[in-house]
Amino acid sequence: MQRRTDWLIEPTPGVNHRLVYGLVGGLLLCLWGFVGFWSWWERSSTLAANEKVLRQLNTAVHEQTRNLFKEAQTALTIASLWMAEHPGQDPGQAPGFIRLVDNLRQSSDKLIDIRMVTRDGTLRYVPDRGQTKRINVADRDYFQAQFNEKTRGLYVAQPVVSRVTGKLGIPISIPAPPGGGDVAVLFAAIELDRLAKTFEAERIQPHGTIAVLRTDGVFMFRSPMDETIIGSSIAHTPMWRQHMGGSPSGYYHSERSPVDGRSRAVAYARVQDYPLVVAVTASIDDLLASWRLHTGLLVLGALLISCLSVLLGSILLRTMDKEQQARQELQRLMLTDPLTGIGNRRLLELRLDDEILRAQRYHRALTAVYFDLDHFKQVNDDHGHDVGDTTLRLVAESLTKQIRHSDHVGRLGGEEFVVLLTETGLDAAVMLVERMRAAVAALTIPGLPRPITISAGLAQWRPGESAEALLRRADQALYRAKASGRDSTYADLSA
Ligand code: GH3
Ligand code: MG
Ligand code: MG
Repeated sequence: MQRRTDWLIEPTPGVNHRLVYGLVGGLLLCLWGFVGFWSWWERSSTLAANEKVLRQLNTAVHEQTRNLFKEAQTALTIASLWMAEHPGQDPGQAPGFIRLVDNLRQSSDKLIDIRMVTRDGTLRYVPDRGQTKRINVADRDYFQAQFNEKTRGLYVAQPVVSRVTGKLGIPISIPAPPGGGDVAVLFAAIELDRLAKTFEAERIQPHGTIAVLRTDGVFMFRSPMDETIIGSSIAHTPMWRQHMGGSPSGYYHSERSPVDGRSRAVAYARVQDYPLVVAVTASIDDLLASWRLHTGLLVLGALLISCLSVLLGSILLRTMDKEQQARQELQRLMLTDPLTGIGNRRLLELRLDDEILRAQRYHRALTAVYFDLDHFKQVNDDHGHDVGDTTLRLVAESLTKQIRHSDHVGRLGGEEFVVLLTETGLDAAVMLVERMRAAVAALTIPGLPRPITISAGLAQWRPGESAEALLRRADQALYRAKASGRDSTYADLSA
């Protein structure tokens, strides 16, 4: 026999809820996973691309710086050679030397100017028209370095404010060859504001920097120009020791600067042939500005989608709940008797099919009982339909109370009820039915001055028997009970 309960709606909203939670949760997980991954990936690739740019810029700055110092060195060497070749001539007055120095100045676009210092530290211009008679630079390190065995030779000095022009410059000195009269030291000064013009255009705006340091950690130059830094040393900082002070070139992200609170990406390299290090930097905040904007927008979008999904999810859940409730209500209406609240014929037939399957499979007894109220038409006729309805309700309630949870009771229609007694043979069923009939007879029904009696017909299911056949036999037994004078029980004993 085919089970006919497949279409029954089971109250399992939990499963559907879990599905919606799973879907929304999965969607949100994917969404935020994507946001997280994308954000990480864009940040990494932005920083990687920037490293490349910074390293390239650093190479360019390195070349410019090296060429500049080379030019200054060459100019000094040429001047020194002239002096060596013209012993006895005063370079401050000799037309050849004046012309030579002037040519050097012009060819370096006035960036490099050769000056001389006498043995006692007096500054001399070329040509020397006595402009600087009173200016003494004996205290300057570019002068003193040439009288110290350890530093004598090409010397890149600390930047100083010129006592003639009042401008900051980096002096590079060499010792003058013998025979140049009283001239002991030659030097060229690279003016920082001219250098600043070049590097200011090249640095990464708005907060990037370009710096030239001496290998002992002294700041020689910085763009944007900050005169308070020039000449100061960073040799004591961990940053210097870890990076620029230790390796010939590199790239790193600095801690937040105590000066402006910015952390920077830094590319640096030692300048070949000179005791210098060049460093170019970019503010990490600047580099990541567009990444921040994109991530912010993405997070905003993801938040919006998240809120929407949660909203849609909860609407879906509510709709599903309502639909489930409606289906359950519909099912209840389809399967229950509205007057008594117990199952109707349809439900009873479904239950009977189930119970027959169970009895068949597990070899259990099953007994069907047909009940019919005696002379019920009379109740309606004598006391009205309302009293009749009340009687039906109270009888249904009484029958329900008497049976076990695993038994079933249903109203077939009119004043007829069927009870299915599971795991119950005919003898036990007869005893139970007698108790049920006695309970009905003992009912006090409002509006009905006399007791109501009920007749019953029983049939025990036979293996292989159909539901229809079983009910027919029970109905026939009921007919016998009625025929025997009502208020009685008849059991079908036929084999
Ligand atoms: P018997 O002892 O032979 O069973 O006599 P009876 O009067 O009970 O049987 P009959 O089948 O002649 O009458 C059944 C009556 O049940 C007819 C109808 O008025 C009444 N009835 C059927 N359905 C309802 C109902 O829903 N409410 C009420 N109040 N009466 C109903
Ligand atoms: Mg009847
Ligand atoms: Mg009747």
